[in-house]
Amino acid sequence: MSSSSSTFDPTNDLSKMSSAPRTLREASCADDYDPNSMPVAKARELIRSFLAPMTAIERVHIRSALGRVLAEEVVSPIAVPGHDNSAMDGYAVRFEDLRQDGDTLLRRVGESFAGKPWPGAIAAGECVRIFTGGVMPRGADTVVMQERAVEDTSGVRIAPGAVAKAGQNRRRIHPAELGMIASLGIGEIGVFRKLRVAFFSTGDELKSIGTPLAAGEIYDSNRYTLHGMLTRLDCDVIDMGVIEDVPEKLERAFATAAAAADVVITSGGVSVGEADYVKQLLDKLGEVLFWKIAMKPGRPLAYGKIGGAHFFGLPGNPVSVMVTFYQFVRDALLTLQGQRDVAPLPTFRVALSAPIKKVPGRTEFQRGILTANANGAWSVRTTGDQGSGILSSMSRANCFIILGSDTGNVAAAELVEVQLLEGLV
Ligand code: AMP
Ligand code: MG
Repeated sequence: MSSSSSTFDPTNDLSKMSSAPRTLREASCADDYDPNSMPVAKARELIRSFLAPMTAIERVHIRSALGRVLAEEVVSPIAVPGHDNSAMDGYAVRFEDLRQDGDTLLRRVGESFAGKPWPGAIAAGECVRIFTGGVMPRGADTVVMQERAVEDTSGVRIAPGAVAKAGQNRRRIHPAELGMIASLGIGEIGVFRKLRVAFFSTGDELKSIGTPLAAGEIYDSNRYTLHGMLTRLDCDVIDMGVIEDVPEKLERAFATAAAAADVVITSGGVSVGEADYVKQLLDKLGEVLFWKIAMKPGRPLAYGKIGGAHFFGLPGNPVSVMVTFYQFVRDALLTLQGQRDVAPLPTFRVALSAPIKKVPGRTEFQRGILTANANGAWSVRTTGDQGSGILSSMSRANCFIILGSDTGNVAAAELVEVQLLEGLV
């Protein structure tokens, strides 16, 4: 299927690969359309290794900052409450004095007790012994817990990592953060530039809404789910419409999208058969890996770079689009937006109210309905028919029921892993 002599081995230990961001050439072992399936976790890990977070910063009014990723520390020009006080016994220090690569030795210049502040301001290399409720001395912005510092005649020694690691300020802004920032009297903050995401649907059978359908045609729904999911993630979206399965038209669309956006997302055209000519096309324009993921729904997935843009080629089936978006694209977009340590969507375990049939070998993302009984005990059941074209299953669901690759049939009352869709769909 490919002229490349290397074959992709889905059992490759990705942890052996060099650290992020990598080049796709380094992963050329994965550039064949592989006959075996790649586990979900490995695909996710491989994608992550290519991502470099956004660095461009813009200043916005806090009213426009909801959902954005804070690019810089917000420093309070006023004290809220009237003065900062310490929440623990320790040493008041200047965060910037703390070395990450070795011990920091600071000179103790005074003490601050609750109700008995130290009147001075600390300078570089200085610290003040502080007790719970003690007013933070001017110049200090951080308290190192006394357990994390050693004081002797040479001064106060602080090991690296004793306080919050750098970058901890890279947080997404929620309503609580908006209020906190406003309470400091700050009207404008620095956030990372929004990601530009271009997307289009592929398929000769697809029509945009507003056009009558001829025999065999269907309305394009993926562009609308994608539009919604991307808007929820606060991306700038570029909707490029439906592109027919005509190589020249597709080539032009890929090139236009990659030039205009940070990320390009398409749906359809990556299944076996179709993938061959899309692959040839993308080989010309960039470096794209085609994977058959060991999951249901959402088996074919393409990921790579076209020019400077990241590319996700999602399956065509409407449910597969949503599942692969939440399992792969969402994490990647959050990372690219500049958010640090993107946590996977939380899961928890709930009792199944009716049995589920499953064949081991793939991770299944069944659509589930989670309900509480009169006693407040939660249980989950599927939405019924799990066909990957049945978008109403996503609409009716309030969770994914995630059944691991090794799992077979599951009996009623057994615990299953559930991932809430609340706020996502
Ligand atoms: P494909 O991956 O292109 O073979 O598409 C798989 C299935 O999903 C086919 O039944 C397509 O008609 C359907 N499909 C593909 N793209 C869309 C779309 N944008 N909206 C609705 N259905 C689609
Ligand atoms: Mg198609």
